[in-house]
Amino acid sequence: MEVLATKTLLIKPGELMLKGDNRNFFEKKLRDNIKSVLNRICLYDFTQESGRYYIIINESAYTEYEIASMLCKVFGIVGVSIAYRIDSDEQNLYNYLSDFCKQVYEKKPYSTFKIATKRADKDFPTQSTDVSKKAGGIVLSAISDIKVDLFNPQITFNIEIRKKHIYIYHEELRANGGMPVGTSGKALLMLSGGIDSPVAGYMMAKRGLLLEAVYFHSEPYTSEKAKEKVIDLAKIIKPYTLLNKLHIIHFTKPQLEIYEKCPHDELTIIMRRVMMYIANEIARRNNCQGIITGESLAQVASQTIESLTVTDDAADFLVLRPLIGMDKTEIVEIARKIDTFETSILPYEDCCTIFVAKHPKTKPILSRIIQSEKVLDIENIIEHCMKNLEVISI
Ligand code: ATP
Ligand code: MG
Repeated sequence: MEVLATKTLLIKPGELMLKGDNRNFFEKKLRDNIKSVLNRICLYDFTQESGRYYIIINESAYTEYEIASMLCKVFGIVGVSIAYRIDSDEQNLYNYLSDFCKQVYEKKPYSTFKIATKRADKDFPTQSTDVSKKAGGIVLSAISDIKVDLFNPQITFNIEIRKKHIYIYHEELRANGGMPVGTSGKALLMLSGGIDSPVAGYMMAKRGLLLEAVYFHSEPYTSEKAKEKVIDLAKIIKPYTLLNKLHIIHFTKPQLEIYEKCPHDELTIIMRRVMMYIANEIARRNNCQGIITGESLAQVASQTIESLTVTDDAADFLVLRPLIGMDKTEIVEIARKIDTFETSILPYEDCCTIFVAKHPKTKPILSRIIQSEKVLDIENIIEHCMKNLEVISI
């Protein structure tokens, strides 16, 4: 007997260890973030039951699998499955499973399997272990020469029994967990064209920060291509970070001024401080509560503990450096996973590499740097940069 089944995306949110109002706040953000992805790509029905979100796609240019992959980038979700929803009835379940396990087998033969049943509806007459046993018998009689393996099965048929419906699925796309973006506030990512800063943005968004980004561009020393590369990186991390604004600072004039007026072995550190002053202003104007950078301890001269101390002094906000204790290989691994790596390694100069001294100070002393910096009119530099600010919607 043919059983009517509706293809449904089954979303598993991460366990929120929160209660009461806080929990509602987190759940609402997650729901909003899921819907903001879906609204752009499909018409859908959305329902929610304890610990699950269900989405039925009514119309879309994308397949369910593609949509599930996009949802896997939403922080707060641990997994997405393409499930089949049938009316909750035990016989209905076995009838459906008998066909379903054969269809799956035809696509990809398996020799071992198990059944995992979750009975969320405690009014359902049969206990989950008994459902699993009966369902296992159905699969064994539908397909010859296969065996049950509870510990290392090639395929797991999941059965979730809810009040009105039963959901059946055999695959789960793993998502990244984390906190829903926006639940931790908003921060400004200093986004260069390199490998590190996009990864830093990804990691802080994973802890619930909504991002805006700033890029310092020094035309003609940095090419239009370098700027496009940063815009591309911003687009690649958008599905994770919900980043929708990239502030571009035209930094040539301040940079030339620093180059002319300041001691050359202090150029890098002074430039980083000036970038911080400007980042402060952007963060303030856009209600950001922190600044994120891709610095990693001892990676280069400007990332010694002394240099970071001097840079920090210029920041009015908490500076978040999620990569601080990571090796390059670990950072690259994440960059590959989130698909920024290939774009990051395109060979366009970033502005810091052009004005660097041959032997930059690796142990700057704050009081000395503040002294050297006095030749600059910082107020004027900030004003100049803010006047020429370019904002790009991502
Ligand atoms: P990345 O790989 O992110 O470019 P990096 O290893 O090249 O980092 P630096 O050039 O010292 O290191 O930059 C350290 C951090 O400062 C970057 O991770 C980024 O957050 C920020 N930064 C550097 N250059 C720029 C820029 N042109 N615009 C915006 N932020 C920048
Ligand atoms: Mg760089």
